[in-house]
Amino acid sequence: MDVAILGGGYSGLWTAYYLLQADPSLEVAIVEAEICGYGASGRNGGWCSTRYPLHPHVLEARYGAETARETILAMYQTVDEVGRVCAEEGIDADFRMNGILSLARGEAQVAAVRAAHAAYDRLGFGAGNLLLGEAEARERVNVVGIKAALHTPRSAAVQPARLARGLARAVERRGAAIYERTKVTRIRTGEDAALETDRGVVRARRAVVAAGEAYLPEVPGFGRALVPMSSSIVLTAPLSERQWAEIGWQGGEGLGSQAHTVDYLTRTPDGRILYGSRGAPYLFGSATTGGDAAFERTSEDMRRQLCGWFPVLQDVGFTHAWHGFLGVSRDWNANVVFDRGRRLAALYGYTGRGVSTTNLAGRLLSSMLLDRETPLSRLPLARGPSPRWEPEPLRWLGIRYVQHAMKRMDDARDSGRAPPADAGLARRLGDQ
Ligand SMILES: Cc1cc2nc3c(=O)[nH]c(=O)nc-3n(C[C@H](O)[C@H](O)[C@H](O)COP(=O)(O)OP(=O)(O)OC[C@H]3O[C@@H](n4cnc5c(N)ncnc54)[C@H](O)[C@@H]3O)c2cc1C
Repeated sequence: MDVAILGGGYSGLWTAYYLLQADPSLEVAIVEAEICGYGASGRNGGWCSTRYPLHPHVLEARYGAETARETILAMYQTVDEVGRVCAEEGIDADFRMNGILSLARGEAQVAAVRAAHAAYDRLGFGAGNLLLGEAEARERVNVVGIKAALHTPRSAAVQPARLARGLARAVERRGAAIYERTKVTRIRTGEDAALETDRGVVRARRAVVAAGEAYLPEVPGFGRALVPMSSSIVLTAPLSERQWAEIGWQGGEGLGSQAHTVDYLTRTPDGRILYGSRGAPYLFGSATTGGDAAFERTSEDMRRQLCGWFPVLQDVGFTHAWHGFLGVSRDWNANVVFDRGRRLAALYGYTGRGVSTTNLAGRLLSSMLLDRETPLSRLPLARGPSPRWEPEPLRWLGIRYVQHAMKRMDDARDSGRAPPADAGLARRLGDQ
């Protein structure tokens, strides 16, 4: 093979797709432990959004206004590119340009929405990120406590698993070999570059690519590159016409509030509500198995929370609940790295923003692997690797403390109390 890729999620699939588009004669293999789309790519909330993993004000503060602008522009183009490929390759992923409404639920959240709008405006994206007052926002969706919203029309939504499966078929059509149910046990680098698996060895003349995202810490060499964070989803039964009439939400925008613990809602094409939240607590040693009781408790809390958004759902049935793991790097930045000497490349750390960002990362990495100049190499995701996470038990202690503090901060804000005394510390440790 020329390139051997660990992981059949969007990262691995987009990398293969653009490699083969640029040079159809390349030999590319993808090795996937389960099936393509088994990881976050097949089970996410479906927001194919213009949001980069770092907030616009953080991009601006860290990299300067020009780079922040280039990054946001690249994200807009990325959303269009995902839609273009779906159309061109006949991928039936329900790609729809429904936009996003980032809501202020309660007066205490209004400042955060205004600040986000101000940052976009400063960077020249004010016209594409509109500040809506209470009445205008409520006209779009009747959420309890809604006070304002940031409306981003040029964001999309997809059916995530269909995107992953459709992409897998597209890269196979272009000649890639996909080995499913094959686990990589070790990555060999240098002249001997190869993926050692439980079913044999896949050698790579040009590079091996680590595209295992939240599961990467289990692979030797990536133990502290990122941490897996759980994210949970509950799905309602299809709503009745009466329930939809009460809720509104005819535009089907992605909805989220300013909660520190994160929430995201998607209206599915078959008339259900998908409600997602940062899920169960971090597991010691960056584990991605165990903690089932915590997942069950989280789902139960989320069913209750959704009724807090829309009281008309008091008796709604919930048909599905699941969780998955997303990857977070130490500075919350996405990473696309290629060490030519070691013939080792990696792309990871999209937080909860990978549906679109993986496409950008895959395009960038394919250019890097082919030694082709690209303006994308000026973007923050090419400036890694991020600093490593702390060793255990410090990592567990720090992350668990921040997760607990974020929950206390949300509780205080929701009930109109002052933030906890340690809110500043928690933000310094846990925010981007
Ligand atoms: C519940 C949830 C909701 C989310 N919602 C959104 C959203 O709405 N919008 C958004 O932008 N992002 C969202 N995300 C994040 C987004 O889904 C991810 O950023 C993106 O899918 C990452 O793609 P990936 O290919 O890098 O990783 P993954 O899809 O996780 O793929 C990694 C693959 O590597 C395989 N693998 C790992 N180790 C090995 C090994 N040793 N050998 C072989 N194969 C291996 C895994 O089986 C997996 O299939 C969400 C994530 C979750 C979990």
